[in-house]
Amino acid sequence: MQSKVVKTVCPFCGVGCGMYLARDSEGKVCSVTPQWDHPISKGKLCDKGWSTVYAVSPENRITHPLKKEVDKFVPVSWDEALSSIASSLTEIIDESGSGAVGVISSARATNEDNYAAQKFARSVLKTNNVDHCARICHSPTVAGLKQVLGSGAMTNSTDDVFKADVIVVIGADPTENHSVLGGQVIEAKLAGATLIVVDPRITRLAKLADIHLQLNPGTNIALINAMIHVILGNQWHDQDFIERRCEGFETLVSHVDKVTPESVEEITGLEPLLIRQAAQYYSQAERAMILYGMGITQFVTGTSSVMALADLALVCGHIGKPGTGINPLRGQNNVQGACDMGCLPNVYPGYQLADQQATQVRFSHAWGTKVAESTGLTSLGMTKAALAGQFRAQILFGEDPVVTDPDQNHVREAYKSLDLLVVAELTMTETAKLADYILPAASFAEKSGTFTNCERRVQRIRPLIDPPGEAKGDWQWLSALAEAMGSECLKWPDSEAVFDEMASLTPPYQGMDYHKLALHDGLQWPCNDEAPQGTRILHQSTFPIGRARLTPVNYVPIDESADEFYPLLLTTNRLHFHYGCGSMSRKSPLLERETPPGILFIHPVDAEALSIEPYGPVGVRSRRGYVETRAVITKDVAPGLVSMPYHFKEAPSNQLTNTAQDPVTKMPELKACAVAVVALPAD
Ligand code: SF4
Repeated sequence: MQSKVVKTVCPFCGVGCGMYLARDSEGKVCSVTPQWDHPISKGKLCDKGWSTVYAVSPENRITHPLKKEVDKFVPVSWDEALSSIASSLTEIIDESGSGAVGVISSARATNEDNYAAQKFARSVLKTNNVDHCARICHSPTVAGLKQVLGSGAMTNSTDDVFKADVIVVIGADPTENHSVLGGQVIEAKLAGATLIVVDPRITRLAKLADIHLQLNPGTNIALINAMIHVILGNQWHDQDFIERRCEGFETLVSHVDKVTPESVEEITGLEPLLIRQAAQYYSQAERAMILYGMGITQFVTGTSSVMALADLALVCGHIGKPGTGINPLRGQNNVQGACDMGCLPNVYPGYQLADQQATQVRFSHAWGTKVAESTGLTSLGMTKAALAGQFRAQILFGEDPVVTDPDQNHVREAYKSLDLLVVAELTMTETAKLADYILPAASFAEKSGTFTNCERRVQRIRPLIDPPGEAKGDWQWLSALAEAMGSECLKWPDSEAVFDEMASLTPPYQGMDYHKLALHDGLQWPCNDEAPQGTRILHQSTFPIGRARLTPVNYVPIDESADEFYPLLLTTNRLHFHYGCGSMSRKSPLLERETPPGILFIHPVDAEALSIEPYGPVGVRSRRGYVETRAVITKDVAPGLVSMPYHFKEAPSNQLTNTAQDPVTKMPELKACAVAVVALPAD
């Protein structure tokens, strides 16, 4: 029997579906019900959402602080763990400076937790070494859209798919990763919208699309520049919009002058006619909307690819109106919020630049202590510095970089080399296994706070049950750790007080409070005096930078192509039934039974040439590692291309992936590397 029900938000992907969570009379989470009147999900949940009960089940939870002694973990009190961690951090900072310590926060934690994490780094540790998994998903979105439009977030709202005449889905697979939104794209298509899908794989949406541009991996910029060339050549651009609202048009015109569809045919692998058709559909539509994902960002050209997409939208005037815009699909439930909170080395909350004196003065004054001044390291920068002996202590929560970061062997070695690794987690992860201390964290069902979804909607979550054992919320243990280090800076009575402090220092959130958020089922930022009810569509009359900056970019090939030693190209993908490193979704027996733990998708032609049987065991080798898994033979990948999901620690695709990085954001090229595949003897 249900004894309590709370209204909350799905803890999985960035769509942010609404749900009611119930507990039984024994205090266990027992059921999930979709919120029928939720502004985004409107009574729907995907398989992951329905499995939320398992994600927070008490089985295998870490319930007490643990300390590593030789090769096993032993329980210790919070006081002992925190005072020992505080002493080690102080000693390391005294010996090696604040640059030798850092924080990795979590896109699965609340805004309040993330705000506390960056405040702890900047005001207590005195370092800008703070980052989170946006580094490996949408850091190019933040940088690229900020450069062109002045703001790095989804410009429109998710239900704009129902207002668009043309929907372009590029480098994204929403029926797998953002399933409720993926379903809405299908509904919009069935209601008459034209669907263009750009993807090297034949995704579910690609099968339904009016045009599928099955391009070679990493050739997005060549395609987009060719589309802009066609649009300009046919006078299909929006001259009035460009004159009123953009700068840099003449430079863009000359930049794409020679980039004809024919000139990029070999690079992209696309028929010029298809490129021309896509350019015509997109530019000639009254309202055309771009949805994109990590097939845009996870390349060495991630930031440039985002800028190219923004250029395309601008030249057609498809921005600032319903059913248009450039819309990144954020992966994790609160990755937008973790970025908004300033859990990035170069920005404070609200994207206030960390290296500007005005920002430092503002936050030093507000927090009552001098904040960090020196430039911070990214998550991969911290890993690299650790391997070089220049980085000694990492505080990390709610992430599993050993599974999710590229070149897993390197990451493992880096974490092993640290003098202090502290991991706060719900359950034992591959990264937690390497920790000196593991702190028991509270799940989303056990705390109060907010998540910000991919359409900038800030939504309340509410506690249903108490944390198990001695588990604590992340801002609470960060506050206790700050106190153990002699700082009162993170003392708050409750989550609402954290939010109120954050909102007072974060311009886009300034008009929000818990009461207003509850009243409106969330509000979309910016929410302030000019927009007290929030903002559904950005850039309607002006850009934060005045005029948008059209920014020409060049196609650059992927870092590692197939060759005679590694003759196939590997890309990575995600599966409908799993999420991230699998630590939440794999707790569900219903989700777990849907796929074997590890899959390599391979085309029949390649499978036959390599004598690989359906579901047969295969070995996959790259220049960085080796993985054994099972083959799924499918025409959904092109000949010469193989694809692996990264959810499974039994077959970690990140043993293989490349660490070559986007020069602007240090985003690694997770979407393409060269591999060799061999059939293994049957079991
Ligand atoms: Fe949860 Fe995303 Fe599925 Fe919605 S689409 S139920 S937010 S996993």
